Amino acid sequence: MPGFEIFGEEEKKEILDVLDTGVLFRYEFGAQRKGVYKVQEFEKQFAAYCGTSYGQAVTSGTAALKVALAALGVGPGDEVITQGFTFVATWEAILDVGAIPVFTEVDATLNMDPVDLEKKITAKTRCVIPVHMLGAQARIQEIVAIAKRHGIPVLEDTAQAAGARINGQHLGTFGTCGTFSFDSVKTMTTGEGGMVITADEQLWRTMSEYHDHGHDHVVNPGARGGEGRRFIGFNYRMMELQGAIGLAQLAKLDFMIEAQKKTKAALKEAASAIPGVQFRELVDEAGDSATFFCFFLDSSEHCLRVNKVLTANKAGAINFGENSWHFYPRWEHLLAGATVTRSGWPFQEPGGKRRVVYDPELLPASAELISRTLVYQVPVKMSEERLAEMRMALSQAAKV
Ligand SMILES: *Cc1c(COP(=O)(O)O)cnc(C)c1O
Repeated sequence: MPGFEIFGEEEKKEILDVLDTGVLFRYEFGAQRKGVYKVQEFEKQFAAYCGTSYGQAVTSGTAALKVALAALGVGPGDEVITQGFTFVATWEAILDVGAIPVFTEVDATLNMDPVDLEKKITAKTRCVIPVHMLGAQARIQEIVAIAKRHGIPVLEDTAQAAGARINGQHLGTFGTCGTFSFDSVKTMTTGEGGMVITADEQLWRTMSEYHDHGHDHVVNPGARGGEGRRFIGFNYRMMELQGAIGLAQLAKLDFMIEAQKKTKAALKEAASAIPGVQFRELVDEAGDSATFFCFFLDSSEHCLRVNKVLTANKAGAINFGENSWHFYPRWEHLLAGATVTRSGWPFQEPGGKRRVVYDPELLPASAELISRTLVYQVPVKMSEERLAEMRMALSQAAKV
C-alpha cells in the first residue's frame, strides 16, 4: 500500500500550478487558466499508462462504478453479478442505479470463481463486475469469455489493483471498461477520486456527459460544448487539485509496485516456514501489484492459532472473516435490507412487497476459504527493523 507514504515535492509542484492560476474547476475559465488542464491531462496520461484510449475522471471509485453502470444502461429490472468478497462500494453502486446485485463465490485467486459465474447468469443479467481484490488479478480472460458468450458487458472493479497486469496487459482493459479508486488507502491516491477507462469512444462520451449533469461535451470532446444535452445526468466532477496530485502519483506508481514486490517476496519467504501454508493463486505473478500478501492455512482453527502468535509478536494479520466491510456474510445491513428510504426501496417495493432476499449461507466455499486466509498490507516503505520483526513473528508462528 499506498501513495500517501510518498506524498512529496512532486505533488506540491503540480498543486502549485493550479493555485497559480486560481482555476480549481476542470471546465471553462479559458483565458484565466493559462493552458492548465490537470484533470484532462491526468485522464489522458492514466489511459495511456494502462494502454487504452479514454479515461473519465470522477469524484471517487464508487462514483466510477456508478457512472460506468449508468453509461452501460444498467438500471431497474436488471441484475449485475459481482463477487461476495469485495468492498461494499461495488454493490452499493449496483443498488444505486436501481439494479439487483447477485453474488458469486471466490476461488483460490480470492476473486470471482468463473464456474460459479456461469451458474448465476440469468436472462436479467446486464453486467458482470469481477473485482481485482487485494492488488491481484481475477481470472479475467475466462470471465470475459463467459460474459461474451452471453452478450453481457464486463466492468472490472480495479480499485485495488492500479498498475497490475496479466502478460503485460493492464487490468481494467480486458472488459468493456475498468474503474479505479484513488481514495486515502489505495496504491495511488488523490485524497478522494476515481477513474473509468475504456477503449469504447461512445461509452466514454456517455460517461463524460453523464458525470457533468448531461452537459453536451460534443464540440470539444472531454470539455463542455454547445449547451445541448442528450439525457439527465449528475455531478461526479473531479477538481483540478485532485488531477494535479494524480499526475504526480501516477508517475510514482511503477516505483511503488517494484518496492512492494521486494518486501512481499521477503514476507513470502518467511511465511513459507509455516507448516501447510499455501499462497494465494496469482494468475500472473509478474503482473501482481504486490499491494497485499495473502496466504491460506489448512484450517480455520490453525489460522486462528497462527494469527494469535503473530499478534503477540506485533505482526497480527488481517482475517477478512472478522472484517465487516469486505465479505458477504458480514454485510449485516445488506442481509437485513437496511435502507434510508421510507418505502424500503430497493429491497421492497412501495407497498411492502419484498424484491430481493440475501441468504447469509449463500457462499459456503468463500466462507470456508476466507476463514483460513490471512492478509498483510504491503507498504511501499518498510524499515529493516520492521521486516526483521515480521520475519521473527512468522518464524514463531511456524511452531504452533
Ligand atoms: C476502495 C474501493 C472502491 C471505492 O472507492 P472509493 O474511492 O473509496 O469510493 C470500490 N471498490 C473496491 C474494491 C474498493 O476497494
